[in-house]
Amino acid sequence: MYLIFRCDCGRALYAKEGVATRKCVCGKTLKVKSRRIFKKAATREDASLAVQEMQDKIYGNTDFQRASEL
Ligand SMILES: [Zn+2]
Repeated sequence: MYLIFRCDCGRALYAKEGVATRKCVCGKTLKVKSRRIFKKAATREDASLAVQEMQDKIYGNTDFQRASEL
């Protein structure tokens, strides 16, 4: 099982369940247990996809996709 959570900088991250810490690209080391878990995913692929979806929401990429469909 993989856990999906967010760093204080806003980036979405995932970590394998049982892993104590995860380092964000911003340089901050997060304690996985102390984070609010947004989602759980069964596989690494699902976790990666969920993170991508969250990033798209945060940065508004869904609007770009909608525009390209016109
Ligand atoms: Zn961060």
